[in-house]
Order: sequence, then structure tokens, then C-alpha cells
Amino acid sequence: METDERSLFSRIIDREIPADIVYEDDEVIAFRDIAPKAPVHLLVVPKTGQYRDVAELAAGDPALLATVVATAKRLADEHANGDFRLIFNTGAGAGQTVFHVHAHVLSAPGEGNSLEEGNLAD
Ligand code: AMP
Repeated sequence: METDERSLFSRIIDREIPADIVYEDDEVIAFRDIAPKAPVHLLVVPKTGQYRDVAELAAGDPALLATVVATAKRLADEHANGDFRLIFNTGAGAGQTVFHVHAHVLSAPGEGNSLEEGNLAD
């Protein structure tokens, strides 16, 4: 029996696993994190599964990393007040569990709302 080595996120991209998708284009997909840590908690994921983490992505395709950041900004404008915290867990010791590079976009939903600085390293 063959082992399916595609990541969880590749399976979401291929619609094999459901997700609450909020944005998609040729390069990236974005969906709501299943276990949100902030009022708005989205994941922005490059469609290619070839980069395990943000360090690999930065070295291999910096333009795609810039696209991830621009998408995060656009989503923070649409879903919150435009301000956002961008987190790339990098390595198991930093809490990474899915080894298909992804950005966590954390934000608060309205004017005058904000994230607490104290949440940074929970
Ligand atoms: P990380 O720990 O940085 O690798 O982030 C993986 C994230 O994926 C976690 O925040 C999980 O809550 C989230 N996650 C896991 N499974 C799903 C899923 N089926 N749909 C949406 N988010 C998920």
C-alpha cells in the first residue's frame, strides 16, 4: 500500500478535506484555522508543497513569500481592521505541526480592537 505523503494542507487544497476557505488564487489559498487563537485566525498557504517552512520559502522563492505577506495584509483589511500579527512557526520546537509552509494571520475584528502583546509566545 502506498503512503500518501502529501501534507494536510495539500489535501485541503485538493478538496479532499473540508476547510472554511476565504481566499484562493493560482499561488495561495487561505482558510480559517480550525482551532483559532484570536478573533480572526486565518492560515495563508502557498499551493506548492515543496517548501516545509518559511526559511525554505525565503531561500527558494522570495517572490512567493512576498505574495503570502501581501495576501495576509489583504485578508486583514477584509476580515479585521487592517492590523495583523503574522506568525510562521518554524520547526517542531517552535510549535510547527504541519510541514507545508503557512502563515498564521491573527487579528481583531474591528476598529479599536487589538491583540494583547502577552499572547505572543503562548
Ligand atoms: P502549525 O502548528 O504552525 O504547523 O500550524 C498548523 C495549524 O493548522 C494549527 O493552528 C491547527 O489548528 C491548524 N489546522 C490543523 N488542521 C486543520 C484543518 N483541518 N483546518 C484548518 N486548520 C487546521
